[in-house]
Amino acid sequence: MSDAPIRLFVAPVTPLQQNCTVVWCTKTNKCAVIDPGGDLEAVLGEINRRGLSVDKIWITHGHADHAGGASELKERTGATIEGPHRDDQFWIDRIPEAGQRYGVEGMRVFETDRWLENGDTVTLGETEWEVYHCPGHTPGHVVFFHRPSNFAQVGDVLFKGSIGRTDFPRGNHADLINAITTRLWPLGDVQFVPGHGPMSSFHAERQSNPYVADRVIAHSKANTSGPG
Ligand SMILES: [Zn+2]
Ligand SMILES: [Zn+2]
Repeated sequence: MSDAPIRLFVAPVTPLQQNCTVVWCTKTNKCAVIDPGGDLEAVLGEINRRGLSVDKIWITHGHADHAGGASELKERTGATIEGPHRDDQFWIDRIPEAGQRYGVEGMRVFETDRWLENGDTVTLGETEWEVYHCPGHTPGHVVFFHRPSNFAQVGDVLFKGSIGRTDFPRGNHADLINAITTRLWPLGDVQFVPGHGPMSSFHAERQSNPYVADRVIAHSKANTSGPG
């Protein structure tokens, strides 16, 4: 692993135990903080301890537990905010209200420096990452993928053994299944950090995930195209 182009650590933050993922370019020690929901002291402490500098703040979607700390982190580091897709603006507007509901201080609305679209690329030091728009949990959800390492941060699209909730305003279950099977599966056997809980791989989820395993998808297609 010593000559790997990227490394990462994951810090569960906020009462919702959201995975704040810090990835860095090992050549430059520039890091991106993906989904800084909160608990910035702990995250910044670990970043400093490892001698990294915060260059980017990447947001998968506008939910408060993922993005509530973005504004303060930008203020403190001068980093550039990239993401999510503009369709999540209405969620970003609701961050303070959600923060109050969770009882978390300092969750604030942020202004992104760059909305992301499907097929965009973002850079971190000498590394380049691909962006995939995966609506369904929220309409503007994006996923960050580093192809040379076969690594993705997928936010609340996909979890080990589950998928994101779609019962929120403008959530859509069919869109989510479609995004996972047509935008993520073609990327290959990718190791991923989800928005909550342990890491997994696309291969493992295609084997056993009760919502999106290959046999589950095949079964639902057979059912919808069958007679009656
Ligand atoms: Zn979410
Ligand atoms: Zn979440």
